[in-house]
Amino acid sequence: MPTTLEELVERVKDIGRLRSIGQLLEWDQDTYMPPRGVTARAQQAALIAGLAHEKLTAAETGALLGAVDVNEGDPVRQTIVRETRRSFERASRVPNELVKSIAEASAVAKDAWVRARKEDDFAAFAPHLATLVALKRRLADHVGFQGEPYDALLDEFEPGATVAGLAPLFAELERHTRELLRRIAASPHKPDVGILTRHFPRTQQEKLCRSMAEALGFDFSSGRADVTVHPFCTTIGGSGDVRITTRYHEDFLPAALFGTMHETGHALYELGLPFEHMFTPAAEAVSLGIHESQSRMWENFVGRSRAFWVAHFKELTALFPESLEGVTLEDFYRAINVVRPSFIRVEADELTYNLHIILRMDLERRLLRGDLKPADVPGAWNGRFSQLFGIVPPSDREGCLQDIHWSLGIFGYFPTYTLGNLYAAQFFEQVQRDLPDLPDTLAAGQTRPLLDWLREKIHRHGQRYRAAELIERVTGEPLSVQPFVRYATRKFSEVYAPQAS
Ligand code: ZN
Repeated sequence: MPTTLEELVERVKDIGRLRSIGQLLEWDQDTYMPPRGVTARAQQAALIAGLAHEKLTAAETGALLGAVDVNEGDPVRQTIVRETRRSFERASRVPNELVKSIAEASAVAKDAWVRARKEDDFAAFAPHLATLVALKRRLADHVGFQGEPYDALLDEFEPGATVAGLAPLFAELERHTRELLRRIAASPHKPDVGILTRHFPRTQQEKLCRSMAEALGFDFSSGRADVTVHPFCTTIGGSGDVRITTRYHEDFLPAALFGTMHETGHALYELGLPFEHMFTPAAEAVSLGIHESQSRMWENFVGRSRAFWVAHFKELTALFPESLEGVTLEDFYRAINVVRPSFIRVEADELTYNLHIILRMDLERRLLRGDLKPADVPGAWNGRFSQLFGIVPPSDREGCLQDIHWSLGIFGYFPTYTLGNLYAAQFFEQVQRDLPDLPDTLAAGQTRPLLDWLREKIHRHGQRYRAAELIERVTGEPLSVQPFVRYATRKFSEVYAPQAS
């Protein structure tokens, strides 16, 4: 006879297995499925998602959770029980009818958004946004919150995070970022970014991306890399099957190169989760913010560092001998670290990116509180944008209609991107203390010491620690914007300083 705890763990694994089947269906849809497969795939995906949800919220799950002690067993079992109870309780508080209404409303809203964006017609999207905001507000009321409704939504992506905790950090980050941006804008020493928009043949880029993914530690015996319109990373079979995707632009090298490094960062986290506990919270990421800290660390702190390119610049120029003729390592390093205010979030540089997030979080909070009418979003967006960036989007397509998130009913997700940057900076300061020769190691082409450190400190624990607890355990301090501010000030002051010739 299995014990109650064993029975619960087996049930949790079944839920995880169902979800991973859903991931596989989605991966296939985005990569290789023929277009006419979409009708069947929507039905298959809905069935699998429904089964997983039913199994999680079933009375049997509640009974098993009620019968086990959260302090029973080793830390792994305790993590599984604690986190399953959390998802069970959250899911049980929301009526099925509301979950269905949100799914239906977002299916319609997504279509409306695609058209509205194409035609630059926010008014056509506004009623759908109003419906989704009202539904998500109801959801927040069911889930419950202590501060403001936004907390309940934030908690879905970053468990434990609240507006009260984040708002002061983001305000401080905004202040420092705008100050640094003023100095960068005043500098006459701009990098030559033209070298990145020359012709970079796709076949050569494919070789480069595969090689860079391997250089960071991606293991192709436990993963794949394919091509999609929007790059992502997905886990199909625990740390034994992790897949990334990228896109290629022959006239813009950074898209595929840094997109690949970013997704590789996500993949390295998934590949470092304990294989023996797959399909349970003991082998799942802590939060989206912590996940993003891993992608940003490899993409920006490593991939956009001089040290990394000391090791790999020769290989790069050998792949593109004509396009990069006469380009020095220093030219390249400065070009990939250009800072320029721009309208589109996904194209933003490392520094201005956070301002795009601060803007979105402000608006989302006001929408959820009812202080901002959905119809007034364009004016609010452009006003805040101009304050943050000193420029105004020429159209809503390049403004409040650019992201897909709201059309899917996703609110409270954006802050996890900036949290990722902040966590990454704080982890990176710590790893440099723990491994003082890290720059030399990276310059010698060795990324393994950094990866081993991340595995030891972060990956192997799965969801054992909450994000706030993890950052304090690893770095000895609660989350702060200072490490990011120090890193950005040092790096960009140097990139924009007069260059010795
Ligand atoms: Zn990411």
